[in-house]
Amino acid sequence: MREPWALADMPNPFSSAAGTCGFALASKGSRSSRCDVAKCCLRVAVVGGGLAGLSVADRLCKLGVEELVLFDPNPIGEGNASAVAAGLLHKFTPRGKKAFMADEAFQRSQELISESAPNSIIYHGALFRAAVTEKQEKDYIKASQLTPDSELILLRGDEVQCSVPQSPARMGLLIRNAFVIDTKTYMKELWNKCVITGAASHRLERIKRPANLFDSGFDSVVIAAGYQSDDLVPQHMNMQRKQGRNVIFRKRCSGSVFNIPMVSGKYLVPQRDNDLLAGATVEAVDPEVKKRSIAETLEALGTRIFELYPDLEEHYEPASVTSGVRGIPIRPPGRAPLPYLSNPSPHLWLVAGLASRGILHHALLADLLTNALVSNDPNLLPKELQSGVD
Ligand SMILES: Cc1cc2nc3c(=O)[nH]c(=O)nc-3n(C[C@H](O)[C@H](O)[C@H](O)COP(=O)(O)OP(=O)(O)OC[C@H]3O[C@@H](n4cnc5c(N)ncnc54)[C@H](O)[C@@H]3O)c2cc1C
Repeated sequence: MREPWALADMPNPFSSAAGTCGFALASKGSRSSRCDVAKCCLRVAVVGGGLAGLSVADRLCKLGVEELVLFDPNPIGEGNASAVAAGLLHKFTPRGKKAFMADEAFQRSQELISESAPNSIIYHGALFRAAVTEKQEKDYIKASQLTPDSELILLRGDEVQCSVPQSPARMGLLIRNAFVIDTKTYMKELWNKCVITGAASHRLERIKRPANLFDSGFDSVVIAAGYQSDDLVPQHMNMQRKQGRNVIFRKRCSGSVFNIPMVSGKYLVPQRDNDLLAGATVEAVDPEVKKRSIAETLEALGTRIFELYPDLEEHYEPASVTSGVRGIPIRPPGRAPLPYLSNPSPHLWLVAGLASRGILHHALLADLLTNALVSNDPNLLPKELQSGVD
């Protein structure tokens, strides 16, 4: 039997009907001919238009479903966590280990982003994980011994000054292959790809009871509502909510450009037009967060961003703030949290808990979920993702 992971590369299950179910479906006028093949008649509702929902929608449209309706009360690209993500795509955890299925996930995300929205790639190059504590120093030495040089380089002393002159750190890890993505642009382009198949439409609607969607004639429903997935599929997941906040800095006229993403608990990430995003995603949820000023947000972020880049205020001035909430599976001690990919009840599918690695994992998760959905076979979902822990 093939491992579920191998199914990510599964060919189009509708290939026998390539003539009627191909990718270039111009309009719903071809509906009856496409229905020659039973699976092509699938009507699917996707609840949530963040990275998870949109990548599922994209793959279902590619596979040639009859109709796909995306329900989200927000315009595409303006929803919750995905709309405020810093845009970092790389393979490594804060301790310098490879994240779950990192190689496969990175490759799939890179492919999907490059094919759907190459103009959303702001940066491709190295990322610096600065070691500012003794524990980080130990972790990074260990990590550099485990991972080949081609992916991860341990920098010490002068090597840091040489490669990352903006950082005062004495040590750090250089992750050689990282991207920064403009997630809003990416999501909009991903959705445009769905729309031009003629099968996809967006309803600006918040779903309260997913079960009602079956009464409206949908064959399958996918819940991809980020941290709010918990409300739609109660008692299925063990997930906590963590808030993230960003301050967007504008370059001062006389300032020089900060040009390498830097992470150490907090992050500093180059954005479009020489903007710089400083933020973190590990706070308890603050219901009043939208009312917080730049000064309050900077105070909440603390001193770490200035420790990472002491010249920040000399070269940049704070301009605006953003915030969002992510859902993180709660893990038993010593276990890594993984996203949820499951089938809570017949024809109801769930992808949630992407935590701080949505950009890394979204494309692979979409492949796995859609393969199970079109085959109507929950056994195709990896067991460890159904419970959300490694
Ligand atoms: C500040 C911040 C920075 C981050 N930076 C990074 C980063 O650099 N790299 C990275 O990989 N990850 C990052 N993340 C994490 C990443 O953003 C998430 O993992 C990812 O966006 C989750 O995507 P999602 O589609 O599951 O959820 P979301 O993006 O939260 O999308 C859920 C969507 O569902 C909709 N919705 C909710 N309830 C309903 C309902 N009842 N009916 C209809 N629609 C509904 C919402 O409007 C929303 O559009 C960051 C997160 C935050 C908060």
